[in-house]
Amino acid sequence: MATLDAARDELVAALGADAVLHDPLALRLYARDASMVEGSAGLVVFVRSADDVVTCVKVAARHDLPVVPRGSGTGLAGGATPIADAIVVVTAKMNRILEVRPEDRLAWVEPGVFNLDLGNALRPTGFTYAPDPSSQQVSSIGGNVNTNAGGPHCLAYGVTSAHVLAIDVVLPDGSVERFGAEAPAAPGYDLRGFVVGSEGTLGIVTAACVRLTPLPPAVRTMLLDFAAVEDCAQTVSAIVARGVVPAALEMMDRGIVRAVEHFAHAGYPTDAAAVLLVEIDGLRAGVEAQTREVEAAARDHDVGTIRIAADDTERALLWKGRKSAFGAIAQIAPHYHLHDCVVPRTALAEVLAGVYTIAQRHDLIVTNVATCTRCSRSIARCPERSNACSRPPTSSCGSASTPAARFPASTGSVSRSATSCRSCSRPRISTRRPASGRRSTPTGG
Ligand SMILES: Cc1cc2nc3c(=O)[nH]c(=O)nc-3n(C[C@H](O)[C@H](O)[C@H](O)COP(=O)(O)OP(=O)(O)OC[C@H]3O[C@@H](n4cnc5c(N)ncnc54)[C@H](O)[C@@H]3O)c2cc1C
Repeated sequence: MATLDAARDELVAALGADAVLHDPLALRLYARDASMVEGSAGLVVFVRSADDVVTCVKVAARHDLPVVPRGSGTGLAGGATPIADAIVVVTAKMNRILEVRPEDRLAWVEPGVFNLDLGNALRPTGFTYAPDPSSQQVSSIGGNVNTNAGGPHCLAYGVTSAHVLAIDVVLPDGSVERFGAEAPAAPGYDLRGFVVGSEGTLGIVTAACVRLTPLPPAVRTMLLDFAAVEDCAQTVSAIVARGVVPAALEMMDRGIVRAVEHFAHAGYPTDAAAVLLVEIDGLRAGVEAQTREVEAAARDHDVGTIRIAADDTERALLWKGRKSAFGAIAQIAPHYHLHDCVVPRTALAEVLAGVYTIAQRHDLIVTNVATCTRCSRSIARCPERSNACSRPPTSSCGSASTPAARFPASTGSVSRSATSCRSCSRPRISTRRPASGRRSTPTGG
């Protein structure tokens, strides 16, 4: 305690009293992120500059205290959870977009900038920052970089590591280094790539140089519904097999569709067993041709209706539904257990059937969301873009579950399962099969 008190005094003297939290209640709020892992924070410090970060790291080193960087705390892996009375360094107030250079297709940003704020700021320039985790309204670029975040549009554009050119990092000894460069290929070891996805274990990122992606000239967003989860899952593979790599390919099962629809009112069909959200972008002629391929693949698998968003408003509404999925689960139960895992795209239907069987056996409510993602190589180097990827597909599946008995209005189980292949075209998907003899999950009710 004496050590913490001494560290607090030094930090207050250097950064000001309002930058340092030590009240037990406040500390408790920073004892966890969005995962189920809880730790204990010794101090919480709000930094405003790289110099502040250096100060924190040096004070921590002097008192032999651990340091845990934190962006918005939406991480699902416990990465921002402090242990052993660590000093939590919060970057939320380092939220300036420092420089936007469309002519060089890059921007420099501080780590606390929200992902969505960056996208909105870039739109008038005709560019965007492609990685779009579903938490993008609140998750920070620093957090995205350190989790190598993916998102629906990472199927076509690649995950965060393909969009970070350089980073400034404060290392554990307080030194400041720049890894990577504004040029696409920096000489020497790829230390930038080493830090991206390192969950804050190597240093604290104080600025990131991100790649700008041109906004596509044409976009088509489609919502396909299916009476059978298997048909929906097989349509994912069928689309890719036809040589189409959509910008985004998302599957949701009935349980999550009902929750989302009650929440977002996006016009999702609540009677479908599963829906597929498909987005095609690119040159207009290419979008037309690929739309026809998607429709043909879906028809081969007994699609019900194919809805095409008429305008940007409808498109935004459909995406609002998908990106509200986590929040919408709160309408089913106050708690859920999330499982994220990777499965081969072609095994999706089988994996989902297994998830439903297990959920039924344990009397759990399960809902599933799956995102088709791709490897972290830059799009220019990813062979999948040319449908020539020969790397063995893997996949991930995430699910969250709630004991049905605690929520008698809902039968089944709440879970999220996602399939994504890290090496080539990879869907993350979720489905739900109502347990026999039970009511299907009355979400939103
Ligand atoms: C509703 C919801 C939807 C989500 N959807 C997605 C999704 O689609 N795709 C996805 O990949 N993830 C998703 N996530 C998980 C999470 O949002 C992402 O991992 C996100 O990148 C975390 O950002 P953050 O700012 O909240 O980081 P935090 O949770 O604060 O931190 C995450 C990790 O990064 C480290 N870190 C943060 N800032 C820095 C920094 N400046 N320097 C060094 N290390 C740092 C932390 O120590 C921690 O290890 C979702 C989470 C929620 C709650």
